[in-house]
Amino acid sequence: METAFISLGSNLDNPIKHVLDASHEINQLNNITVTRLSSMYKTKPIGPQNQNDFINAVAVLRTDLSPTDLLTSLQSIEEKHSRKRSIRWGPRSLDLDILQYGKLVISTKDLKIPHPELVKREFVLIPLLEVTNPDFIITKHGKIKKYL
Ligand code: ADP
Ligand code: MG
Repeated sequence: METAFISLGSNLDNPIKHVLDASHEINQLNNITVTRLSSMYKTKPIGPQNQNDFINAVAVLRTDLSPTDLLTSLQSIEEKHSRKRSIRWGPRSLDLDILQYGKLVISTKDLKIPHPELVKREFVLIPLLEVTNPDFIITKHGKIKKYL
């Protein structure tokens, strides 16, 4: 059993509902329990500005799935929310990213953990701090408080 941290984001048609529904759907998957969900944070988009604000949150999971199986499961939930992969950094009904998985460091074509943008993005760091503590160690990078 490992502890993993994921980010949830949405900026299309009722984003709060997309994020809340997704957290329930993740909890209902086999071999995953959502143990904590942060508050919802309203944030400005990165990239193209002619799109809605985002709703972002971070969830804490306990899981028996391998990192790649976890990614596949999260992608199946993105599909369910009819995520269309179109414009880079463009609007999306649901984006689920793995931020951290235990103490693992992974860098393959399809999966990078810790998430490469994690320490650069306030809209991930702030909800991650909410569900952890200032001394929480981001793999490879060190204490989260250094980045806030
Ligand atoms: P982004 O989240 O970067 O805006 P996408 O959600 O479309 O873009 O993801 C593109 C690809 O990123 C996915 O197909 C996945 O293989 C890859 N990826 C690499 N590392 C991760 C990670 N830690 N969490 C989620 N996806 C990842
Ligand atoms: Mg993603």
